[in-house]
Amino acid sequence: MKDGYGRTIDYLRISLTDKCNLRCSYCMPKEGIQHVAHSDILTLEEIGRIASVMKDLGIKKVRLTGGEPLVRKGVTELVRILHTDCCLDNISMTSNGCMISEYAEALKDAGLGSINISLDTLNRDTFIRLTGSDELDKVKEGISSAINAGIAVRLNCVPVRDINDNEITEIAGYADRIGVPVRFIELMPVGCGRAHKGVSTDELKAKLEAELGSAYRLSNDELLKRGFDDIQGPAEYYGFGSFPGIVGFISPISHRFCESCNRIRLTASGFLKLCLQYPDGVDLKTPLRCGASDSEIKSIIEEAVLKKPAAHSFTTGSLNTDTRRMVEIGG
Ligand code: SAM
Ligand code: SF4
Repeated sequence: MKDGYGRTIDYLRISLTDKCNLRCSYCMPKEGIQHVAHSDILTLEEIGRIASVMKDLGIKKVRLTGGEPLVRKGVTELVRILHTDCCLDNISMTSNGCMISEYAEALKDAGLGSINISLDTLNRDTFIRLTGSDELDKVKEGISSAINAGIAVRLNCVPVRDINDNEITEIAGYADRIGVPVRFIELMPVGCGRAHKGVSTDELKAKLEAELGSAYRLSNDELLKRGFDDIQGPAEYYGFGSFPGIVGFISPISHRFCESCNRIRLTASGFLKLCLQYPDGVDLKTPLRCGASDSEIKSIIEEAVLKKPAAHSFTTGSLNTDTRRMVEIGG
């Protein structure tokens, strides 16, 4: 499927819920949010139906996210539906890690290939300050369970100024010790993220260089040689001096990658969102529940995708920015 700028759209992020068991201060307010009514959340079968139509339209990769995808009942069954019924082979998830231990084996059996686990800090007090919960040990347990179940794991860390930005070398070291790559993601001014200050990739790289040695970009061949095959996507991977670990950077603010954006998002309530920043998109739930045929749904999706914006304008500001929080959109 092509958008109006000729970009191939082959990656769908599906939000399973706007609920979460944590309250990361850059994502979700302490008091929580007004959740979408249960009856307005897509059922597993409805998600499967949309995914199947999307597959016909050329979607190759699906990522389950939220909110926290593992608080959604039936998540393992959904992975099975996507893998077996929709014949999607590239199914991944982004999770905060707290509940992975309970699900890792079942998710692997159902067809989950990889999981990005958020780990912003290794310090218990900072974890509590950042997320409102004392769950760091659970997250670490979750990371080990996913690795032991044979699911490919990557760690995601969002450095936030004066909260966890002093820990990046330690987090890179931890990732290396457990044998997984880590990616540092620039904080985006979405929802609660606006109340915090992020740290640019250039600043992070300079810090890591000072502590670990000179940075060098890892080519795809080098990454494959090191057994890391998930090389598509916006992350750029680096090595540092003699440090053996793989460190990725995702830089939506300082080096925006919109020209090669291949993704669209489905919210938990069935809204197809075209760009993280803007509210534009199309409701798929209503036609689905009113009996639209697959070909009618396909046309609605294709028509919407043609209107995908060229690029975000987070740095210049835009009056058309989505007012919803990341947890509501599906990060
Ligand atoms: N609950 C899961 C988790 O935390 O991994 C999945 C949903 S969460 C919204 C997905 C990712 O978005 C997490 O890695 C989180 O750190 C990131 N995120 C949330 N708000 C963000 C923001 N304002 N800027 C950049 N990343 C953000
Ligand atoms: Fe929950 Fe993930 Fe948002 Fe943290 S980043 S509040 S874990 S949805």
